[in-house]
Amino acid sequence: MYDFIIIGGGIIGMSTAMQLIQTYPDRKIALLEKESGPAQHQTGHNSGVIHAGVYYTPGSLKAKFCLEGNRAMREFCDEHQVKYDICGKLLVATNELEMQRMQALWERTETNGLEREWLSGEALKDREPHITGIGGIFVPSSGIVNYAQVAQAMGRVFESLGGTIHYNQEVTALSETDSEIRITTRNEIFSSRFLISCSGLMADRVVRMLGIDPGFTICPFRGEYYLLPAQHNRIVNHLIYPIPDPSMPFLGVHLTRMIDGTVTVGPNAVLALKREGYRKRDISPKDLLQMLSNPGILKMLARNLRPGLVEMKNSLLKGAYLEEVRKYCPSITKADLTPYPAGVRAQAITPDGKLVDDFLFVNTRRSVNVCNAPSPAATSSIPIGRYIVDKVKAQLDA
Ligand SMILES: Cc1cc2nc3c(=O)[nH]c(=O)nc-3n(C[C@H](O)[C@H](O)[C@H](O)COP(=O)(O)OP(=O)(O)OC[C@H]3O[C@@H](n4cnc5c(N)ncnc54)[C@H](O)[C@@H]3O)c2cc1C
Repeated sequence: MYDFIIIGGGIIGMSTAMQLIQTYPDRKIALLEKESGPAQHQTGHNSGVIHAGVYYTPGSLKAKFCLEGNRAMREFCDEHQVKYDICGKLLVATNELEMQRMQALWERTETNGLEREWLSGEALKDREPHITGIGGIFVPSSGIVNYAQVAQAMGRVFESLGGTIHYNQEVTALSETDSEIRITTRNEIFSSRFLISCSGLMADRVVRMLGIDPGFTICPFRGEYYLLPAQHNRIVNHLIYPIPDPSMPFLGVHLTRMIDGTVTVGPNAVLALKREGYRKRDISPKDLLQMLSNPGILKMLARNLRPGLVEMKNSLLKGAYLEEVRKYCPSITKADLTPYPAGVRAQAITPDGKLVDDFLFVNTRRSVNVCNAPSPAATSSIPIGRYIVDKVKAQLDA
């Protein structure tokens, strides 16, 4: 019998496992992951940005955890020799409407407690000769890291303190009684006094295994990237982001310096027809049927028909995708966009078709389940893990 079992070897599961064993060093703790190694889904397929906390609704968990997480991530990387770079980020406005939206973001960054600098078009050009815009905001605390490496380092801390990681253990059934949770995987049965699920794209399915209606469904959105050729590795000095449309949930195609020295363009946001489908042609009849029979997803699709079609067009036509980035970086050509692996975001959708904005958790007496942890959850993974440990403590003491 384990004291705690964690499902999911992404960055949230690893951070939680690490902090649980630091809090309860004498307890028997295991992490179960269905893949053969860590970080094979969202954690290993993202932009690698250590966000500063620009966009998030003041007072939300995202705003709080991103700010704390930015600091905690740097400290963790310093302590465990994970390479990162606080290269700063520029938000670039290319027209008057974006200038107005940028003003609103400027105010939000103030409320969210961020250091930042307002740049004129000329100041922008001085900082970034290849970028065109009429104004910008510079945020110095944004940075880059490889989150798969961070998750691996967290896993090493967990194991060094006596925790066990079991790979190739896909959880297929759960049953909760007054005294324990039984966890059935494809190969074994485990029992534990407490369960923490950090199962990303499968979050709603795991909650359903506990016999409860989670009140949301996970909708997968693929984020497609391109890689710029090596001669463009110095095209930008910072991370370059467009000013997002506030009615849209994702940040827009950006130019990202990666920690390995390359530069990527992306990601867009297209509906994925398979939860863990990284290629355009990946379709899962089971996932598709579930999506098409889910009233929340259908309402969300109907409400976002126009932007959804634009995203699809940009996904299918490289020229259309290119135009998104040429708005602020006109020197990039079609030939510069070379293939790069996509990621798939797990986004919770409510039954009335809304995208759940904040991080979301659903609890039972013997479990805490992470249900919505989209970006900036990698940045926020240390405070999220701490929050889960506090919830577990409170539930055990109740
Ligand atoms: C395209 C893209 C760009 C992003 N960019 C950024 C960024 O720049 N900065 C940032 O902070 N965040 C970013 N994010 C968000 C960030 O990557 C995620 O929020 C974070 O990785 C979530 O971690 P996780 O551990 O919850 O999920 P995951 O990494 O998806 O891990 C979940 C794990 O659970 C396992 N699992 C699922 N079901 C089961 C089961 N039944 N049994 C056993 N194991 C199971 C899976 O195999 C998986 O390993 C981005 C995400 C995407 C997709």
